[in-house]
This record gives sequence, structure tokens and C-alpha cells, in this order.
Amino acid sequence: MANSLWTIEEFTCPGCSMDYTATREEHDEPHSGHFKCSICSGVVHSWSGKHHFFGWQPVKTKPQVFGRRWAGVRW
Ligand SMILES: [Zn+2]
Repeated sequence: MANSLWTIEEFTCPGCSMDYTATREEHDEPHSGHFKCSICSGVVHSWSGKHHFFGWQPVKTKPQVFGRRWAGVRW
């Protein structure tokens, strides 16, 4: 349908900082659901409203430039 709108959103697990992406799809009817972390089983994102998420997957190729590994570096 021409009126479908997909948006890829990113989420970070509050428990273990694992990053995930999911595709958000706008709907005319309300949906609800949640995604759980595959590592620590914590709920990373839950929603309720006129949209739905699918395509939940961990981010495996995230660049490390902005990662925590650099946070403690002292020159
Ligand atoms: Zn986690």
C-alpha cells in the first residue's frame, strides 16, 4: 500500500547495553507488544498504540568509534 510508512528505529537494552533495531510500521488500528533482549531477557522495548514493530534484530555491525571502549581511555 502506498500509505504504509516504515521507519527503522534503534533501541539499547537497559540491562546489558546491547543494541537492537526494529522496523516500525504505522497502522490505523492499535497494536501492542514488546521485545526482549536475547542476551539478558530484559524487556528492551514495549509499545501500545497505532503502530507495530517487526524485524527485531541485534545490531552486530555497530561501529566501535562511539562505543564504551573509548570512554575510559586516558592519553
Ligand atoms: Zn540485555
